[in-house]
Amino acid sequence: MTIRIGRTLPPAAAPIPLNDILHALPSCLSDDTDGFCFEEEIRKEFKQRYCLLVSSGKAALVLILRALQKLYPGRDEVLIPAFTCYSVPAAIKKAGLKVKLCDTGVRSLDLDKKQLRKIIETNKKENKILCVLVTHLFGCPADFYGIKEIVGDRIPIVEDAAQAMGGEIEKNKMGTLGDIAFFSLGRGKALSTMEGGVIITNRRDLGDILCDLLKELEIYTVFDTVKLVVKTILTTLLQHPLLFWLPKALPFLRLGETLYDCDFPMQKMSSFQKGLAANWQKRLQMHQKVRRANIKFWHGRMPHNLAMVCLRQKEISLIRLPVLTESVEVRNAFCLKSEQAGCGIMPTYPTAINEIPQIAEEFTGQRFPNAKKTAKCLMTLPVHEYVKKGDRSKINNMLLGI
Ligand SMILES: *Cc1c(COP(=O)(O)O)cnc(C)c1O
Repeated sequence: MTIRIGRTLPPAAAPIPLNDILHALPSCLSDDTDGFCFEEEIRKEFKQRYCLLVSSGKAALVLILRALQKLYPGRDEVLIPAFTCYSVPAAIKKAGLKVKLCDTGVRSLDLDKKQLRKIIETNKKENKILCVLVTHLFGCPADFYGIKEIVGDRIPIVEDAAQAMGGEIEKNKMGTLGDIAFFSLGRGKALSTMEGGVIITNRRDLGDILCDLLKELEIYTVFDTVKLVVKTILTTLLQHPLLFWLPKALPFLRLGETLYDCDFPMQKMSSFQKGLAANWQKRLQMHQKVRRANIKFWHGRMPHNLAMVCLRQKEISLIRLPVLTESVEVRNAFCLKSEQAGCGIMPTYPTAINEIPQIAEEFTGQRFPNAKKTAKCLMTLPVHEYVKKGDRSKINNMLLGI
């Protein structure tokens, strides 16, 4: 690995202004929140009956699955796209359930409709599928209504809107389309409180069970909170392009690595995290405006050997712009060049879900060719607010081979 010193873009960022961090510090010590209630604001904004706040998107998904299991005790399979974030199968395993995979479409991040139809048809006899996860990966809207038509009303749909807070499909907010949804407030998601997860639902049966489950979760200890404060300040400083080369050069931080890990905490969101969200609507709008403008730049400019995956809307806010290359060699060559120039172009999840070493055995004999190809050929361009006009031209020239 070469170590680069100098301006380096992170692949994704949702910076928390230092001022917001300072204002959140007193909430570490007391629960006094100046009348700000994050749950309440989310419920209002998304027009949902229930909002529950936890320590991460993964924890949110585990809680959702536990609630669904109470409603449908005989079902134990969770159907997910074969190309998605490794945290998703990790959460399913932690909930004690089985991961069932459906391939993604050709040149698409969405579930393959033909295979989905087959799976749903076969399930009619066994009735083992607890829920289907519809994922808006990077913020690209999944074809929710098309999928819903196939899945029908018997199987609940969980929207994995981890990367899609604030996005819309035909004027409907992502996260409000299915039976229940979750957002992640992790580093590099649509909005960040450093770590955090949000569950929203309109369903009373699920909501009431979830409220009970939430009560059983642990809280952040003083030590956890202090760690989180330090991590928040360091991350905010070090993800700035002037300094980002530094954490990248430290191998023990393992930045950019995708790990499969079922051993994560299940906690209620702390008041420090809620404090970090005090300005959330303004911040999210600002992030989105910049991301939209940076994405618009690429329409009409993408070199012909690269394909944008998420094409339906020109005006769209994604957290990273996914681009498909023709082969893994081409993809890796671009990423290496970017690495040397600090352009922030990165591969995404290294393999399809069925090839994660810890769980690969369960999928012996199954093939997910589209997901496999996507894992090999996909890379993302950075579109966050640290990407300036000069960066865009530099990336453009790099992609054109100039
Ligand atoms: C990040 C992410 C998650 C998990 O969220 P964390 O807050 O990181 O636990 C789940 N699904 C998708 C698609 C994600 O991108």
